Amino acid sequence: MSDKYDLVVIGGGPGGYVAAIRAAQLGMKTACVEKHSALGGTCLNIGCIPSKALLNASEKYAEAEHHLGDFGIEVSAPKLNVKKLMEKKTEIVTGLTDGIGFLFKKNKVDWLQGTGKVTAPGKVEVTPAKGKKQTVECDKILIATGSESTPLPGVEVDEKQIVTSTGALELTKVPKHLIVIGGGVIGLEMGSVWKRFGAKVTVVEFLDRIVPTVDQDMGKRFKRVLEKQGIEFKLSTKVTGAKTTKTQVTLTLEPAAGGDTEELKGDVVLVSIGRRPYFESLGLDDLGVERDKRGFIQVDEDYQTNVSGIFAIGDAIPGPMLAHKAEEDGIAAVEIMAGQSAHVDYNLVPNIIYTWPEVASVGQTEEQLKEAGIEYRKGVFPFSANSRARANADSEGQVKILADKKTDRVLGAHILGPDAGTLIHEICAIMEFGGSAEDVARTCHGHPTLSEAVKEAALAVDGRPIHI
Ligand code: FAD
Ligand code: NAD
Repeated sequence: MSDKYDLVVIGGGPGGYVAAIRAAQLGMKTACVEKHSALGGTCLNIGCIPSKALLNASEKYAEAEHHLGDFGIEVSAPKLNVKKLMEKKTEIVTGLTDGIGFLFKKNKVDWLQGTGKVTAPGKVEVTPAKGKKQTVECDKILIATGSESTPLPGVEVDEKQIVTSTGALELTKVPKHLIVIGGGVIGLEMGSVWKRFGAKVTVVEFLDRIVPTVDQDMGKRFKRVLEKQGIEFKLSTKVTGAKTTKTQVTLTLEPAAGGDTEELKGDVVLVSIGRRPYFESLGLDDLGVERDKRGFIQVDEDYQTNVSGIFAIGDAIPGPMLAHKAEEDGIAAVEIMAGQSAHVDYNLVPNIIYTWPEVASVGQTEEQLKEAGIEYRKGVFPFSANSRARANADSEGQVKILADKKTDRVLGAHILGPDAGTLIHEICAIMEFGGSAEDVARTCHGHPTLSEAVKEAALAVDGRPIHI
């Protein structure tokens, strides 16, 4: 039996590893149990980072193929070496995951490599892939075991022909026809990657629109941009089964409301219909840890479950299933354990889709404001009127800012456009401070920058944009 810890974190993803480091900074003797051979969780190993590496590479490819010539830069047609691409992606991932090991050593966090099981409050059994089990004792346990891809009955994943995002990040060649089930974030990011590299891409979506949680007007514009890039959509459609041969997958489709079936054939199918919390072999049910209807662990405002001394964060609990939300949860949870006050406002967690153009949003959508009966004013500014976007010949999209009609307080912002994921943070900061559209409008923005489109949208809230 090892020495007693103040805190044992189970799961070394962005929620767990960040919580462990912060706990150690706060003086807690901390261990992190992670079963995978590398730290970093879904995000670093099979999520955010490898997907962004492929998105970035495919953007460069598309740039060389379609855009450099417009500036008189003549290059021969790009040729993709998938093996080299994947090696580079792995190098990037390994560099970052090794970095967490270094941060653990620096902060004196013990990494207990193995599968964690909570046998009782204050007791965690760790089973390594090889070797003997050990039980560690602690004052508090923090569950950060993350999530996994939601399966679709009748469409069995083999990670070769029928893949989740994990398989879509590991393909050994460009598919001829990639069928994506689910027009959400993963489907559109991975669909964009393989489309740019030459695949035909068809997205089958159950609802009558893609990215259903995004502001609807932005979602419609986004779909049109993706269609211009050649991605095809079949909306209001459900997949009822899949048949696989060596080279082909045949999906059976049916209108969501019922009706005649049709077949759709492709060589690779990506199932991306959402993610669900993951607790395999954790022993939660034996301990009576309460979960909600969708399976997420229920926690109070201190991130504590109904079982005293057991806490949970990140994808394992309700809220946006995002790496930065998991990190904020982790920091808040351990600061509260240390007696500090902390709170994460999920309304201010930015949501970014890393396609090109990007889609970024924070706060409320127009639909949510209407439903809540909140009166608002809206300022919209297109990138086609922004000088930097024009200089870059990359001016698709717009900035939309929503502000309270009476107080002018910013209630939400939605950006479709180049670098939207960076631009949104100005609005996150203003909303964090309870600022107004006028505050953004009166802030001096550098010229020529894409950020000026945010300032102009803020001016447009009051009907006084300069460049439209
Ligand atoms: P996870 O990162 O899932 O980590 C959980 C860890 O717990 C894993 O390492 C797992 O091995 C370990 N574990 C589980 N059970 C046990 C056990 N019993 N014992 C020991 N260890 C255990 N989010 C963004 O914000 N931006 C993005 O760009 C983005 N891109 C994504 C792309 C893809 C393809 C996917 C799939 C997800 C993406 N996400 C993105 C979501 C993001 O990855 C998750 O929200 C985030 O990783 C959640 O962090 P977490 O710490 O809660 O859990
Ligand atoms: P998602 O919730 O973003 O999208 C799922 C889509 O599938 C929705 O449009 C939904 O209507 C549709 N759908 C559900 N059931 C269906 C069915 N049976 N047939 C057809 N369509 C169906 O889920 P995702 O794309 O799998 O991603 C999971 C989560 O991972 C995201 O919600 C996000 O939290 C995280 N993620 C974030 C990023 C990012 O921040 N850029 C990138 C990737 C993943």
